[in-house]
Amino acid sequence: MELAGVGAAPGIAVGPIWRHSGGSGGRRPVLDLRAAAELASGELMALAARVRTGGRDADAGIFEAQALMALDPLLLDAIDARAAEITRAASDSERAVALESIVDEVAASTADTLAALPDETLAARAADVRDVGARIARIVGGRTIELPDRPSIAVADDLPPSVAAEIPDGRLLGVALERGSATSHAAILARGLGIPAVVGVRGLMAAVSEGNGAGPVTVALDGDAGRVVFRPSDGELRRLRAAEVGRHAAGAEARALRGQPGQTADGQSIALVANIGRVEDAARALEAGAEGVGLFRTEFLFVGRRSAPTEDEQAAAYRKVLDAFGERPVVFRLIDVGGDKPLPYLRLAPEPNPFLGVRGIRLVHEHRALVLTQVRAIARAGAEARSMPRFMAPMVATVEDVEMVRAMLEEALAGLDRDGLARAQYVELGIMIEVPSAALMAAELARRVDFFSIGSNDLTQYVLAMDRTHPELAAAADALHPAVLRAIRATVAGARTTGIEVAVCGELAGDPLGSLILAGLGIRALSMDAGRLDAVRFELRRWLMADLERLAASAVAAGSAAEVRASMGSRPAP
Ligand code: PEP
Ligand code: MG
Repeated sequence: MELAGVGAAPGIAVGPIWRHSGGSGGRRPVLDLRAAAELASGELMALAARVRTGGRDADAGIFEAQALMALDPLLLDAIDARAAEITRAASDSERAVALESIVDEVAASTADTLAALPDETLAARAADVRDVGARIARIVGGRTIELPDRPSIAVADDLPPSVAAEIPDGRLLGVALERGSATSHAAILARGLGIPAVVGVRGLMAAVSEGNGAGPVTVALDGDAGRVVFRPSDGELRRLRAAEVGRHAAGAEARALRGQPGQTADGQSIALVANIGRVEDAARALEAGAEGVGLFRTEFLFVGRRSAPTEDEQAAAYRKVLDAFGERPVVFRLIDVGGDKPLPYLRLAPEPNPFLGVRGIRLVHEHRALVLTQVRAIARAGAEARSMPRFMAPMVATVEDVEMVRAMLEEALAGLDRDGLARAQYVELGIMIEVPSAALMAAELARRVDFFSIGSNDLTQYVLAMDRTHPELAAAADALHPAVLRAIRATVAGARTTGIEVAVCGELAGDPLGSLILAGLGIRALSMDAGRLDAVRFELRRWLMADLERLAASAVAAGSAAEVRASMGSRPAP
C-alpha cells in the first residue's frame, strides 16, 4: 500500500513504525499549573541546551522560544480563567484530569487561530503552541511520554518537535505525518537531523489503524518524491536505494555550487535570493549562498505581543539583517496582516471574507501611523547601514493603491528629513503582484514602481478562487496551473514596457520545475526558502535559456496543471 504526501525533508528511510499518539509512557507526581509550566519551561531549556551542544542551533532556537511560550502570562491566565470552572468538590485526581483537558483546549484554540493565518511561517507556529500545551497538560496530569525502543519511523498525525528531540540519538529514522507542511517545525527538525520527512499524507492514520501499523510492519519513506510505502516489495526497496545513491551524488554536486551566481547553462543570469521571516534566518540564507533577500516577511516583529514594536526596536532588527547582507539587496515587505491575520492591538473587525478584506496594504487607510513608523524604521536602518532599502507593498490591487503607498512613503521620509536623520536620497518602491487585477494592470503599475515581485501563493488562490488554507483544495490549488502561468506571463509583459525587474517570491520559485518555467517566462530573480537554493541553482545551470523558453511556452499553452507537470516529468534532462 502506498500513500502520497509532500516531501518535506529529502532522503530514503526504511524501518518499523513507531506511532506517536501523545500516549502515556509512565506516571509522575501531579503538579499545579504554575509549577507544571515552570517544569515544562525547564525541560525545554534543557532540550535546547542538548541540541545546541550537538550543533543544531536552529532547533535550539525553537525550544528556547517554546520555553518562553510555556511561561506566557496570556496563555496561563487564559487557562486559570477556565480552571475556575472546576468544581470545588473535585478530588485531586479529578482536578488533575479536568485541568489537563483545559490546558489542551486553551492551547488548541490559540493554535487554531494561528493555523488559520495564510502566512505559512506564522501558521507553522501553531504546532509550537499545541506542543507546549501538550507538555504542560502531560505534567499537570502526571504523565510522561512514550518513546521508541528501537530505530523506527515516526508515524503521527503531527509530531511535536520537542517530542522528536527527546528521542534518543539514532532511534528516529524518518518522519511521516498526516498533517504538517514543509515549513512546520517537524519538517525543519527532520532536515536538521538529516532524516527524510513526508508531511500532509492524507489517510495516513487511518491506514495505520487499519492494520498497516500493527505488528512488525515495515514502512519506506521517500522524502524527495513525498511517498509512504507500507510493506515495500524487494523490487521497490532496490529502486529506493538506487534513488538514494543518485540523490547523494546530486546533492553533493549541488552544494559544491554554493557561492556561484544563479544562471543558465548559457550564462543568462537569474538572481537566487532568499525569503526570510526572522532576523536569525539571515545566517542560514547566507550559508546557502543567497545573493540577497527577495522577501523579508516583517510580520514576525508584530505578532505575539500586546502592542506594536517601537520605531527603535524595529530599526535595530532591520539593521541586523542589512548588516548581515552587506552589499547584497534586501527587500522589506511592509507589514502584511489584517483580514484573517489579526493583531489583537489593532482591534480589527472580524471579516466575513477575510482574504478579500482589509489585509496587506489596505491597512494603511485605518492604521497609517503603524505603517509610517515601520517605513521610518526601515529607512533609518538603511541610512545607518549605508545601504539603500528596498520597500515592497503587499496586496496591491490598483493604481490608487500604489499612489497611496507612494504618498505614505514620501510622508515618512520627509519626516526623517525634518528630524535631521540621514537617509538614502532615493529609495526603491516595489509591489507584490498577487492579486489578478495587478497582473492585468501590470503595464500601468510598472510606470509607477521600481520592481515587481510575484507572490505566487496568493496569486494562485485568487486566480483559481481556491482558499490557500483549505485542506480539500490543496492539491487543486497548484501554482503551475496554466491560468496562473498566464497571469505571470502578463505581469512580465507589463514590466517589459518600462524595463523594471520582475521577481517571484512565492513557493513556486523554490520548486525546481517551477523555477525552470519561471526563468523561461522571463523572470530574472527567484526568491525562496534557503533550503531550496542548492537544488534550483543546480537545475538552472543544466538548461539553455532557449530550451527554457520553449518549455515555458508549452506549459502556458497546456490545459491543466497536471498536463504541465506530466510534460515536465516526461521531458528528458538536458
Ligand atoms: C505569496 O503570496 O506568494 C507571498 C510570498 O506572500 P505570503 O505567502 O507571505 O502571503
Ligand atoms: Mg501573499
